[in-house]
Amino acid sequence: LVSKSFKPETTTVQLGDMLVGGPEVMVAAGPCAVESRENFLETAALLHRAGAGALRGGAFKPRTSPYSFRGLGEEGLKIMAEAREVTGLPIVTEVLNASDVELVARYADVLQIGTRNMQNFALLEAVGETDRPVLLKRGMMASIKELLLSAEYIVARGNWQVMLCERGIRTFETETRNTLDLSAVPLLKQYTHLPVVVDPSHAAGKRELVPALALAAVAAGADGILVEVHPEPEKAFSDGRQSLRPEQFAAMMADLRRVAGAV
Ligand code: PEP
Ligand code: MN
Repeated sequence: LVSKSFKPETTTVQLGDMLVGGPEVMVAAGPCAVESRENFLETAALLHRAGAGALRGGAFKPRTSPYSFRGLGEEGLKIMAEAREVTGLPIVTEVLNASDVELVARYADVLQIGTRNMQNFALLEAVGETDRPVLLKRGMMASIKELLLSAEYIVARGNWQVMLCERGIRTFETETRNTLDLSAVPLLKQYTHLPVVVDPSHAAGKRELVPALALAAVAAGADGILVEVHPEPEKAFSDGRQSLRPEQFAAMMADLRRVAGAV
């Protein structure tokens, strides 16, 4: 179902007043995790001013260590919903378990499936049963074909609103957190009608690399960018090292507009 031979025309995903997969590049920005109401609302307002098209933030965080900050849960979802009220921007947030899908779908505009869950088939089927757009991240050790087969699980359940996300894969290189596989963008475009989003933040792991990777992704044909921004990255509860400062985000948006024509 996800292959271009089955459906040659590009699938567009309606997100607020934007069509992902259309001529505009969708930029979803925000902190790794929702940390507090004040912090998130303030961040949302500045991202809105800088031209973001959607807000990202984690309420349920998959963490390598069980002792790290794992998110505010439903409280975080409520804060994001409030930010949507204020800014009008749609909300992208991760759902970790099939049993949480109903709860997260009550608040979120886009259900994000994280890299660690790309092959959580029960979760894929559960989001496939909803009418919410899904952002499916590539597993950090998954091939492009495996990503497409995971998308197939969602679409087979009737939900065609799926965006694929390249977020870096594990390689021998240690200078970056993961290696951004830019080839995935034109390859996915060749194989599938689904829109392609790139997350340069989790790929790079270092904020100074993020704008260049975002620009390269859009130049390569990405339909959207998912990027972490924090008002005070040094104080972030998670992923501060890769989070852009607000002024870096604004500069990146200006550069993206030049590359994409219209953002
Ligand atoms: C995230 O977007 O915050 C996240 C956890 O991403 P990934 O699943 O790609 O690590
Ligand atoms: Mn993160």
